[in-house]
Formats: sequence, C-alpha cells, structure tokens
Amino acid sequence: MHRKFEVVVVGGGPAGSTAARICAKSGLKTLLVEEQAHLGYPVQCAGLLSNSAFAECEVSQSSVLNTVSGADIQAGDATCSFDAGKTMAYVVDRGAMDHEMGRIAADNGAYIRLKTIASGISRTSRTLHLKGINGPEEINYSMLIAADGPRSSISRMIGIPRAQFYLSGLQCDVKYSVPTDHVQVYPNASPEFFGWIIPIHPERARIGLCGINNVKKCFSEFIQPFKNQTTHLVSGTIPLGTLKRTYDDRILIAGDAAAMAKPTSGGGVYMGICAARHAAQVAINSIENDDFSSVAMASYESAWKKDFGNEIMRGLQLFKIRQKISQKDMEHLIRILALPDMKEVITKKGDMDRPSTLIKALLTHPRMIPAHYLIGKAWIKSML
Ligand SMILES: Cc1cc2nc3c(=O)[nH]c(=O)nc-3n(C[C@H](O)[C@H](O)[C@H](O)COP(=O)(O)OP(=O)(O)OC[C@H]3O[C@@H](n4cnc5c(N)ncnc54)[C@H](O)[C@@H]3O)c2cc1C
Repeated sequence: MHRKFEVVVVGGGPAGSTAARICAKSGLKTLLVEEQAHLGYPVQCAGLLSNSAFAECEVSQSSVLNTVSGADIQAGDATCSFDAGKTMAYVVDRGAMDHEMGRIAADNGAYIRLKTIASGISRTSRTLHLKGINGPEEINYSMLIAADGPRSSISRMIGIPRAQFYLSGLQCDVKYSVPTDHVQVYPNASPEFFGWIIPIHPERARIGLCGINNVKKCFSEFIQPFKNQTTHLVSGTIPLGTLKRTYDDRILIAGDAAAMAKPTSGGGVYMGICAARHAAQVAINSIENDDFSSVAMASYESAWKKDFGNEIMRGLQLFKIRQKISQKDMEHLIRILALPDMKEVITKKGDMDRPSTLIKALLTHPRMIPAHYLIGKAWIKSML
C-alpha cells in the first residue's frame, strides 16, 4: 500500500464513495478510509430516495426494495393524500446500496481501507493519522475530502464549529400490511419534525421519526401499535444548517460532515452526493493546476452554495417555523393541503430534493390565506 496519495477521502458513505470514484476515475491516486468493517453498515437511514437522488448514486437496481408514487400526510383526523401516478421515489436497502457505491469506486481505481479510523491530522505536513488493524499509520495527501458523516471528526480536528441543529432519529421494521405505493407521514408523531411509515414489502414497513427533544418517548408512543414485533432498530443523528465553513487548507468537507441534509425532510443522500461531486472537481482542478490557494478551496463552497445553498437556507427557515406549529394548527394546515387545487400544486411542483419551489407555490396560493396568520405566528415564535 502506498503511503502518499493525491486524494484521501475519509468516510465510505454515499458522499465519500462518490468523491473517491470521481477522483480515481480522473486518474488521481485516491484512498478511501472507512472505520467500519463493511461499507454501508450499520445502516442509519430510512432508505427513501427521490428518483433524482437514486440516479445520482449511479448504482444498479439491486438494492431497490420498493418504489412509491405518493404520500398520505396524517394528523389527528386530517388527512391529505396525493399521488403522482408514476414512480416518485425508491425505497432502498442503504447497506447494499452504499456497499455497491464503494465497490464502483474501487472498480474505478480507488484504494479502499476498511476498519481504519482517521484519528488525527497534521495540516502543515499534510499528514492524516490512521489507526487500523495493522496499527497506526501516516498517510500524506495533496487533497483531503472529509465525508465522515454526522459526527465528523475531521471538521472537529480542524476547529470548524459544529452544526446549528442535530436531529435524532429512531426507526424499526414492523410487520404491517400497507399499500406499497404510498409513504405515510405523521407530523404530530414528533412535534419538532415528523414520523414516517415507509413500505418495503406488502407486509413490512419501516416506521420511525426524527426530533430534537423526547425522541425516545415519541418513538415508543408511535410504535406502540406494533410493540413486540419490531426488528432492525436503527438510530442516528442528522446535523442541519450547514457548517460555517466547509473548507480549509487542502481540505473539503461534504455531506453530513458539513450538515448538508435537507432541513425539511432530513434526507441527506442527494445533497451529499451533489457536494461530493463539487469537492471531487475542485480536488481534480487543484491538483491539475497545482493551485491549492484559499481561493481555489473557497471555489468548492461557492459551487455547492450556488447549486443547493438556497434550498438549505429556505429549508432551515421552514424547519424553525415547523417547530412552533401546534398539533391543532398542523391539522388545520393539512386540511388546506387536502383541497383539490392544493393537491394539484403538490403533484405538479413537488420535488423531494429541491422543495423550495413547491413551498413558495403553496404559501402564496390564495387557499393558504386563512393559514397565513398561524404560519406568521409560528414564524415570529421561531425568531424569539
Ligand atoms: C433515522 C434516519 C433516517 C434517514 N433517512 C434518510 C432517507 O430516507 N433518505 C435520505 O436521503 N437520507 C436519510 N437519512 C440521512 C442519511 O442517512 C445521511 O444524510 C447520509 O447517510 C449522509 O451520507 P454521508 O456520505 O455524508 O455520510 P455517512 O453515510 O454517515 O457516511 C460517513 C462514513 O464515515 C465513516 N467515518 C466516520 N468517521 C470516520 C473516521 N474518523 N475515520 C474513518 N471513517 C469514518 C462512517 O463510519 C460512515 O461510514 C436518514 C438519517 C437517519 C438518522
């Protein structure tokens, strides 16, 4: 194994494997290090990916468990169901999908080192300290891409302040006969975010929720009807709000490590891969042009901000407002969304990965006028 790499990627999730694949494919000597023994495990995801998110992963269909065409949003006795009449999202086995993404990176020439943790960094000598099954090791890099997930130790090591918010998520699989073509969303299951039931099979579903406070309690109430028949418990963290800075001297931070998940849904695969593509491109350009200046590094942050920075910023505003909406007001909002012309807007403009256009269309729709008072009230509370 070489001790000097042009690009070292820390973390073998979707963001890391994408960055490693692109850098290796362009001919750069690339190493991906992953602390786990298997890429993709343990799974910390509901596995719901929009069509475009799944396409961004550039994998076969082998990890696909189900496809969905619509959603049912339920709160109290209010329900809003909509259906696009075509596949809108894939339900995947994230372990299998991440594993395939890593294998494709390796097929493109990336070296992959499992059971290896990035434990320290010396920026002046551009050395990454690793601890693996063969003991400690030092690797030199020209560019380092930190895709080391929600608890990113690289960003901590280089002193970048943590994300603004951290969601905790809990999920399990249950035996549940459910229509397989709709995801069910339960905003009132978690007062700061929402709960979900995602069908993976005609008789099985993933049930879970994310929140900030009392997540365990909310989760045990939510899964009460399925008690004693739950399997595959998943727990995880989703940082939200993006880091204050996503680059440093020859270091680029992507995916959950940079808190890039969508604040409206917690989905982080799509943005993570988009950011990884920008990071890989900046790494390739910097090495080709021998330009590692701060201007070259900052071009990464400008690229991802131009791509999806607005989505995250608007999503964050909505996330803050959502936390101040009471259960009763949520029911009222869902009744408005269930009106036929509102449902038409949702099916026409709905985009899971870039929801800001839909949100703007809904908020400015005349049907929403009666709800402006309660949204305004929540907005003011969110600013206090
Ligand atoms: C309950 C739950 C449900 C979710 N559901 C969805 C969903 O349905 N759709 C969606 O798009 N997103 C979902 N997400 C979010 C999604 O899982 C993440 O946004 C996504 O995995 C981020 O990808 P990533 O590559 O940035 O990081 P990760 O997938 O977290 O990968 C980071 C990798 O880095 C490794 N690592 C960390 N530190 C080190 C180190 N020091 N050295 C070596 N390796 C290291 C980790 O082991 C890990 O493999 C969910 C999250 C949770 C918690």
